[in-house]
Amino acid sequence: MSRKGALTASNSGRFPAVVAPKPPAVPGNLAASSSNGLFTAIEVNGGGDAKIRAWVESMRASSPTQKTTPLPGDHRAWMTQHPSALDMFEQITKVSKGKKIVMFLDYDGTLSPIVDNPDAAYMSDAMRATVRNLASYFPTAIVTGRCIDKVFSFVQLAELYYAGSHGMDIKGPESKKDRENIVFQPAKEFLPMIEEVYKILVVKTSSTPGVLVENNKFCVSVHFRCVDDKKWEKLAKRVASVLEEYPKLRLTHGRKVLEVRPAIAWDKGKALNFLLQSLGYANSNTVCPVYIGDDKTDEDAFKVLKESGKGFGIVVSKVPRDTHATYSLQEPSEVMHFLHRLVEWKRQTHKGSQEIRRR
Ligand SMILES: [Mg+2]
Repeated sequence: MSRKGALTASNSGRFPAVVAPKPPAVPGNLAASSSNGLFTAIEVNGGGDAKIRAWVESMRASSPTQKTTPLPGDHRAWMTQHPSALDMFEQITKVSKGKKIVMFLDYDGTLSPIVDNPDAAYMSDAMRATVRNLASYFPTAIVTGRCIDKVFSFVQLAELYYAGSHGMDIKGPESKKDRENIVFQPAKEFLPMIEEVYKILVVKTSSTPGVLVENNKFCVSVHFRCVDDKKWEKLAKRVASVLEEYPKLRLTHGRKVLEVRPAIAWDKGKALNFLLQSLGYANSNTVCPVYIGDDKTDEDAFKVLKESGKGFGIVVSKVPRDTHATYSLQEPSEVMHFLHRLVEWKRQTHKGSQEIRRR
């Protein structure tokens, strides 16, 4: 475990005073895999072909383009359980009144559209401006499976917190005085192993047309998006066979992606807690964390919020799915609309309280 620096006050003064947190306990190297049943970890050792087939089927089912259109009744029932965050906006602001909202945003499929080429998942200028405004009122973190450098090249906002590699690489807002004001890397010891596996996977999968292997620093993503789905099973077996030599790594899957990560009990939910603790809100009843994401990996964070009773998760999905999120939004354009309304609400509240003080 490495933790080079404590989280310090941000450069802008817009973020709350922060305290040096105690790093959360990170269990040993070979901890549990799936924490919630929604995020599937593949057992490489002893998993066998049946497991690989089950995973391929599960990935197929979770890919929106492969889904059959849900029946109107199914969708209505799901929307009753997970209503639109836009429709529930008044209630959301009512509940969060007097509390400090802290924003957590996934990137792909949340702030940017899902595209075939992950290197081209750009966010729009309008979304960037919205997130910039958001961060001027609320501490805001990007929580992603991407490595920090890659996601930063898309987002380009130095005033945000970034939790890359599924929360295994955490960094605070850049300050002119201190460019390294928070670094928390619970899986640092795995870096050489991940680099090695990345190189092997590039070679071993190179014969499959359309495959893209992405080095996300603390994890490796094998993208299936442009691979003929008749070849998915063979490709998955090939990836799993590489992992047989690395018992300290595990395989998980997301939307048309297979991911190799250190087998430590660390995920986006743990990263959320770490950031809240870093901001001084570990045991606070006046914090309202809001997490917006579309991926299976975001479920770990939704679950943390649900169990703590603080704040809420918003799942980005057009189709009904199992989720621990409280609310839903259909797509990135709705996310932008929601964030924009949050900023406007805060601006009005702020203006109102200033006017009262002047009287
Ligand atoms: Mg996503």
